Amino acid sequence: MYIGNNIVNLVDNLPESVRLVAVSKTKPNEDILEAYNVGQRIFGENKVQDLIRKYEDLPKDIEWHFIGHPQTNKVKYIAPFISLIHGVDSIKLLKEISKQGVKNNRQIKCLLQFHIAEESTKFGLSEEEASELLESEAFKQLTNVEVVGVMGMATYTDDENHVRNEFRVLKNIFSKLKNRYFSTSESFTEISMGMSGDYQLAVEEGSTLIRVGSKLFGERNY
Ligand SMILES: *Cc1c(COP(=O)(O)O)cnc(C)c1O
Repeated sequence: MYIGNNIVNLVDNLPESVRLVAVSKTKPNEDILEAYNVGQRIFGENKVQDLIRKYEDLPKDIEWHFIGHPQTNKVKYIAPFISLIHGVDSIKLLKEISKQGVKNNRQIKCLLQFHIAEESTKFGLSEEEASELLESEAFKQLTNVEVVGVMGMATYTDDENHVRNEFRVLKNIFSKLKNRYFSTSESFTEISMGMSGDYQLAVEEGSTLIRVGSKLFGERNY
């Protein structure tokens, strides 16, 4: 029961403008069902194989989000059902997502991932790279992929001000992109930021999608 309680407690304290992505990676179906049974419908996974298995086994009204970088050659497996892909940072991946969107006769939503943290290992675009991508002919020709917002991960640190500033940077990038490239798009609305350790700060700084795992399901054993 503790997972259900964790979900309810967390969601009860979120503003209505923020949705919870329950990050269920490495966790068994029973844990996901416990969350499902208290009303949670959005779940996040970062391994294509696990995601497919869970999609097949679990209720069909779950909205599955891919929260990492799918390998280009694996996009085809999730394309029929994925609701949102959070970690997109190249034209190569966007092209593949659109191509699979065409094959499945659907629009596939994704978020552009930005590099906002100090750690150099984290993925993501710079503002300049994003502008270049969004202005490219290759991007304009894509028909079945829809960019609906931005995603980022803050530096892993106890320094709240530092984390808060990185979230502000992401919010600011979102606003600039919205003005420059998506002013007529009604669907460009999402800012995916905030995890177990920092989601409260992220919410204060304008997050619309928080991605929380261990705080709900317990620590992961890889
Ligand atoms: C695992 C993961 C999360 C959730 O992390 P927790 O610290 O367990 O809340 C969020 N976002 C991404 C991209 C992840 O890979």
